[in-house]
Amino acid sequence: DPANATFKRVMLKISGEALMGDAGFGLNPPTVERIAREVQSVHEMGVEICMVIGGGNIFRGLQGSAQGMERTTADYMGMLATVMNALAMQSALEGLGIHTRVISAITMNEVAEPYIRRRAVRHLEKKRVCIFAAGTGNPYFTTDTAATLRANEMSCEAIFKGTKVDGVYDKDPVKHADAVRYDTVSYDDVLAKRLGVMDASAIALARDNNLPIIVFSLDEPGGFRGILAGEGTYTRVQ
Ligand code: UDP
Repeated sequence: DPANATFKRVMLKISGEALMGDAGFGLNPPTVERIAREVQSVHEMGVEICMVIGGGNIFRGLQGSAQGMERTTADYMGMLATVMNALAMQSALEGLGIHTRVISAITMNEVAEPYIRRRAVRHLEKKRVCIFAAGTGNPYFTTDTAATLRANEMSCEAIFKGTKVDGVYDKDPVKHADAVRYDTVSYDDVLAKRLGVMDASAIALARDNNLPIIVFSLDEPGGFRGILAGEGTYTRVQ
């Protein structure tokens, strides 16, 4: 869609698991660097970039609470995991010569900037990649919701949700050979059919603010840039 080529500011959301490569846990630096290069190629187009990275490669609150941990404590641990991932991405991007800021929803001034909306907007105007860490700062939320929240606050034109597959399918394309990819799908269908793009609160927040979600494959080299140039396959939730 050539309309994508007009985007000036976008949010890239990736899961923590995207950073772990073939390992079953944690961070794989070559994988982080590969994703950083995808971001670099979009940065070179002059597009302003926000990022939210999950924490599931290190810790998920629900997992902890299933093992008897208090839910809110477990969620704070999950939020801290996202800070580690954000720092890893910052390091990889700065290694490529891109200026970045890690902006945390939980204050930890020695490690990251506190979230101040106007300040973050200014960073974007100066073409710094803003990596929003620690989710929303609240338990019972996910980083999908954090990405949607920050995308709205930063007036992003779309959320790019990088996944393992090139869009949203009517059933799991890994398990079903006859699964069909949607070019576009409505927020309400995503919710009603439980298509698993993002959690329900994130979808509702995007819907209520008319923020399109572009689901694409992060494994496709040049995929992120391609979509912003008006090419490629993906699903647009709108
Ligand atoms: N989390 C939270 N509030 C937020 C964002 C995240 O409590 O606003 C916690 C929650 O426990 C979650 C964990 O951080 O399980 C990691 O985030 P998420 O599961 O979204 O990571 P992803 O699945 O994208 O890797």
